[in-house]
Amino acid sequence: MKHASLVWYRHSLRLRDHPALVDAAEHGSVVPVFVWAPDEEGPWSPGGAAQWWLHHALQDLDARLRERGSRLIVRTGPTAEALRDVAETTGATRVVWNRRYEPPLARRDAEVQKILDEQGIETRVFESQILHDPEAVETTSGGPYHVYTPFWKKVRKENLLRTGPPLDPPALDAPDAWPASDPIDALNLLPESRGESDWGGGLRDTWTPTIEGAHERLDHAVEHVLGDYEITRDRPDQEGTTRLSPYLHHGHLSPNQVWHRVATWADDTGRHDEAEPFLREIVFREFSYHWLYHYPDTPTETYRDKFRDFPWRDDAEALARWKRGQTGYPIVDAGMRQLYETGWMHNRVRMIVASFLTKDLMLHWRHGAEWFWDTLVDADLADNTFNWQWTAGCGADAQPFFRIFNPVSQSERHDPNGDYIRRYVPELSDLPDDALHAPWEESDARLRALGVTLGDTYPRPIVDHAEAREDALAAYEQVK
Ligand SMILES: Cc1cc2nc3c(=O)[nH]c(=O)nc-3n(C[C@H](O)[C@H](O)[C@H](O)COP(=O)(O)OP(=O)(O)OC[C@H]3O[C@@H](n4cnc5c(N)ncnc54)[C@H](O)[C@@H]3O)c2cc1C
Repeated sequence: MKHASLVWYRHSLRLRDHPALVDAAEHGSVVPVFVWAPDEEGPWSPGGAAQWWLHHALQDLDARLRERGSRLIVRTGPTAEALRDVAETTGATRVVWNRRYEPPLARRDAEVQKILDEQGIETRVFESQILHDPEAVETTSGGPYHVYTPFWKKVRKENLLRTGPPLDPPALDAPDAWPASDPIDALNLLPESRGESDWGGGLRDTWTPTIEGAHERLDHAVEHVLGDYEITRDRPDQEGTTRLSPYLHHGHLSPNQVWHRVATWADDTGRHDEAEPFLREIVFREFSYHWLYHYPDTPTETYRDKFRDFPWRDDAEALARWKRGQTGYPIVDAGMRQLYETGWMHNRVRMIVASFLTKDLMLHWRHGAEWFWDTLVDADLADNTFNWQWTAGCGADAQPFFRIFNPVSQSERHDPNGDYIRRYVPELSDLPDDALHAPWEESDARLRALGVTLGDTYPRPIVDHAEAREDALAAYEQVK
């Protein structure tokens, strides 16, 4: 019997730049395995939109493996039992995987490793989810970074990022016999398979959740987005950002592949100044992982102690209106509807809607983080946690609480012609540009002439921003 290794696929749903896959191929035959075990992921098992993505990503991975004479073996948890069973059937003596940093997964992985070790099955774990080692990058006085810019300078100046030419996909030797596999459909990752309505239409129209789709997006980003990235990245009405986040989250692309492609483009074209603001965002992703690694309770616990007594409001109706894009603030509603329809929202608008939820509505940031978790195709525990706490003013390096985004001036600045609002809030599309950002400032007669009746065809504002701002600042005074 040939020596066989299992490659335990979780994220890293690709063949290129996959250190565990390369290691397995070097040791003999390779059995790629995916185990669906959501109850092992604590409260952060993939949400609805991420499950939709995962279904298609697994089908794609299986197809790409089959092109190479291999295939994806799909099982359900408990993970340790599933891996042990596949190892026994194939005679595999090793299980290898790429490390995950999310705290519930890191704990689960350690348990699986212990069980496999006890069974005499060799395990090896490789790095590929992030580019830095959170233990090795520390401040001059020791300990983790809390502020982004010094972190960025440190990893950049001291070359602390693990970057280099991506690993080629290896040739894959098949085991003597393939073990049984569950059909991907049986995991019920699609809404209709769980008896829900098929809400995935907008996702299907927006995304290609495959390895090829990821590379097409990366090519497109390098050719058409990066040149103007610094200028257009804050414009939700334009395609000013790369939209690589779901591909990075699910691992169709490693951060190293993205880094290498962009750095090579900068070297070849001399456009280092244009590449740098983008690479800075890739390192922002690193920073959120750094923070999650050192503060593993932050997905549920507020980082700054004083905010634990903040008088968050309890208002189910306001939360429901925010989720459905019915707040009466067009930029907020456009963002929330973009999220619901496409599984993604522009970063600037994510900040505006998060500020609105936590400061104008004074609802706990966790409600927002949970909704994003369920609806984003790029829902990522590190990025989502860091950014929600940042916007709410209670995280590390956070935007101060008293900086409260004005949804109208933000809208005027970042969506000046209202194209973004018109796209996602079509009932306002006939309003002239000057009336789009704050329709309630227009007379009822003028609005009616343009086909809009506030409180009927479009909601009146859920709060008065100026008053809500004063209330939020007063609440902040209580805990500051
Ligand atoms: C409240 C809130 C919640 C968020 N939740 C998530 C989340 O769950 N998953 C997620 O991937 N991003 C999250 N972000 C960060 C950011 O909005 C997205 O990464 C970005 O919009 C993705 O679009 P893009 O790929 O076009 O980004 P680009 O601007 O093209 O950036 C390239 C990559 O850099 C990284 N990046 C960019 N901005 C950030 C940032 N602020 N923080 C961390 N990494 C960043 C992402 O990996 C992104 O794909 C959140 C931001 C906010 C304000």
